Amino acid sequence: MNPKPILSLVVPCFNEEEALPVFYETAEQELEVLRSRYEIEYIFIDDGSKDATLAGMRDLAEKDQSVHYISFSRNFGKEAALYAGLERSSGDITVTLDVDLQDPPSLIPEMVNAVTQEGFDCAGSRRVTRKGEPPVRSFFARRFYRLINRLSDVEIVDGARDFRCMNREYLNAVLSLKERNRFSKGIFPWVGFKTKWFEYENRERSVGETKWSFFKLLLYSLDGIAAFSTKPLAAASVCGFFFSFSSLLLILFIVVRKILFGGSSVDGWASLVCTVLFMGGLQLLTIGLLGQYVAKIYIEVKQRPLFVIKEQK
Ligand code: UDP
Ligand code: MG
Repeated sequence: MNPKPILSLVVPCFNEEEALPVFYETAEQELEVLRSRYEIEYIFIDDGSKDATLAGMRDLAEKDQSVHYISFSRNFGKEAALYAGLERSSGDITVTLDVDLQDPPSLIPEMVNAVTQEGFDCAGSRRVTRKGEPPVRSFFARRFYRLINRLSDVEIVDGARDFRCMNREYLNAVLSLKERNRFSKGIFPWVGFKTKWFEYENRERSVGETKWSFFKLLLYSLDGIAAFSTKPLAAASVCGFFFSFSSLLLILFIVVRKILFGGSSVDGWASLVCTVLFMGGLQLLTIGLLGQYVAKIYIEVKQRPLFVIKEQK
């Protein structure tokens, strides 16, 4: 008899000592139905946790042969953790999900079905409500999706989570994108293939609290825009063109007025100062924008590894 295909679960964890055992128990129950058809493998990534997350992983690995873990030397961020886990996955089918049960493991059998039976390469999930989230955060999140979709060529789905199920071809394509600035929400749609979307209501974390502050999210979204669009640079050029062209018209106007009507124009120093300040500000803004892209190039050319592993099993 052929050996069973492997189903890998890739789970990033950062300070999740409480959530980890709850997750494991729930996943074990929900995946029972798949055991007859798949060999299940867990890959936990400890993203430099400061609490007992790693100890929890060691315990699980001791009890259960199918549990593996990778522990980073410090916090490298969820994107790096996901990459490490995907790279390590030996699964024919690989699922990525959060440890806090906001991504319901009960959906996994259906997602696996979509990939194995229905001819999709990937099953993605999106939350259709943002219940339980601060309204300000929801507001900015929606604006962000609008903006990034207008700016970039790949379609970034509003509310898409990093809860995905994918086949080998899809996974290899994702791994072939070796960029340091990883923005999963863009990388997954960028590789293409056929994706089936599962929708569900937002739910609260099982235990613990979110690792994302508003500021961290804001920086992440700016990174995302820079990683998937160069249109801001074009916008800066268009802006520059517009202002130099209008100043040319103004110069013409002033010269012609002087020739035709003479007189001096001492009036208007206030408006002059305003214009100078405005132009100065605009220049700084565009230089800053340019700097963002240069910084990204700088990070990429250094070719540093995405993460450093301290311990694994
Ligand atoms: N996470 C991580 N590294 C980080 C931040 C988060 O590996 O630097 C993990 C975290 O343990 C969780 C998942 O990423 O499994 C999602 O994090 P969280 O629940 O805090 O985000 P939210 O659901 O609020 O967007
Ligand atoms: Mg969460």
